[in-house]
Amino acid sequence: MTVIIPKEVYFTIVAACVRFANKKIPRERWLEECGIFIGKNVGKKKDQDVVITAAYPIMHETYDPNAVVDRYVWSDEDYISTTMIEDEAFARNEFVVGWWHSHPGFKVMLSGFGDRKTTLSYQSLNPLAIALVFNHERLLRQIELPGRQGDPVKQLKNDPGFKIFRLEDPNNEKSNTIEVKYRIEGFESPEQMVLEAQKLIIDITNFFPPDNLVEFYSNYINGRISKLNSQLLGTEEYLRTLLRKGEGHRVSEVLEQQKKDIQKYVAETFLQIEKIKSFMNYLEYKERTRVIPAIEDILHLWDETIGGLDEKLAELSRI
Ligand SMILES: [Zn+2]
Repeated sequence: MTVIIPKEVYFTIVAACVRFANKKIPRERWLEECGIFIGKNVGKKKDQDVVITAAYPIMHETYDPNAVVDRYVWSDEDYISTTMIEDEAFARNEFVVGWWHSHPGFKVMLSGFGDRKTTLSYQSLNPLAIALVFNHERLLRQIELPGRQGDPVKQLKNDPGFKIFRLEDPNNEKSNTIEVKYRIEGFESPEQMVLEAQKLIIDITNFFPPDNLVEFYSNYINGRISKLNSQLLGTEEYLRTLLRKGEGHRVSEVLEQQKKDIQKYVAETFLQIEKIKSFMNYLEYKERTRVIPAIEDILHLWDETIGGLDEKLAELSRI
């Protein structure tokens, strides 16, 4: 059996996990993220593949400075999320084909009792259900960290940062863990896949914080708007100064340069806004109804500002 993973599913896992464990967060505060896979089993009975169509981030561990290990604390919201995702999938003749979680900074494997128990619970409903374990450091550094101190670090090549597992016998808790083959679709080459995924890690680290997302993007957009406005105001003052000094012949040249600068600034902001929009796919399911409309309102402010830009530039040229 092979697991088929589309690019966007892979990116969802990378982004959702890196959001809670990256260079901007102190290592001792790195948290695991987990979620589920939706998809279907295809092929003949004895030789079926698992086609994943979507990955849904559900929850992250709760940080507790006094705890030895951080824990997943399931809330009602998380149970409701899972039920809603399952219902949506069912309407498309799809179902839960497994689960995924991160091991931020440590070996990818089914560790301890919890990982095996969860995997078993999915496999008891669907024997082909899989468990994917991702570690962003494995992807960034292309190495497998040792399971035990003193063991050698294994060098990897073109590795996506994860492995997929299942239990050989879904009816036996003590069953062997086996690795499952997979294929990631949507990239030109394995090299390109790793490069793009590593670039996504950088974007997420810088621009997709774990908390206070609405405040973060609101500050960003308001900052861009006020800088744009002060750029326009500065241009106007400069042009008036030129006229006062009798250097009116320089106005059109200066205005052209200012327009170019403003256009560049708008284009840069546009790229960042596209990122914000794509990051909405990487939110935990329970965040979506609260965060997405609030972010849309914020982005609307920028659209309004840009909507009035041509008029403002035309005003400037009439000075
Ligand atoms: Zn684990």
